[in-house]
Amino acid sequence: MARLLIVEDEVALASALARGLREESYSVDVCHDGEEGLWAALGKEIELVILDLQLPRLPGLELCRRLRQAGRKVPVLMLTARDTTADVVAGLDAGAHDYLKKPFAFDELLARIRALLRLHTPACGAELEFGDLRLNLAARRVFRAGTELSLTVKELQILECLALHAGQVVSRDRLAETAWERDCLPDSNVIEVYIRNLRRKLGAARIRTLRGAGYMLAEQV
Ligand code: CA
Repeated sequence: MARLLIVEDEVALASALARGLREESYSVDVCHDGEEGLWAALGKEIELVILDLQLPRLPGLELCRRLRQAGRKVPVLMLTARDTTADVVAGLDAGAHDYLKKPFAFDELLARIRALLRLHTPACGAELEFGDLRLNLAARRVFRAGTELSLTVKELQILECLALHAGQVVSRDRLAETAWERDCLPDSNVIEVYIRNLRRKLGAARIRTLRGAGYMLAEQV
């Protein structure tokens, strides 16, 4: 079953939701503040985030924005105490997919979770295969010879960009723009470090260097 993250500072509400969702067979992680929540959403294979808007340390809207800036496309269901049009628009603009106004019926939460997961969970065809390498882009999971690899967020973003252009040369600038924000693009040495790490994990021959041009994910090794 899908892995969900609840970011909610009302501890009693968060535990009640977590308990209910676990009874429905979801795996559930819980965070009680925005910073911890962002960290959890970025670093783990979370498939859906249930996000309270008013949170200590980092507000829900800002968490959502940063998640999108980092390239994470995980569905976000906002929980809001208010449902003025302005709040809802701000939430959707920040990258949330849906919202629920508190208090809500647990069954409605379940229905919305199911709907979001249906929309965002890849169909079988959404997996990409390159020899012994299998990428599930939507779930952000990568397998080599059947074993799941542990990749950092930036490694995943770089690999995703290469995979979507497999067999074509992708420039370092393009990779930098994929994984970093525009105002803090790294120099090409940093990209090389990430490529080196990816080669170590995927097999050296999988990513080819084309001098002066960039990198290419080899479809066949
Ligand atoms: Ca709150």
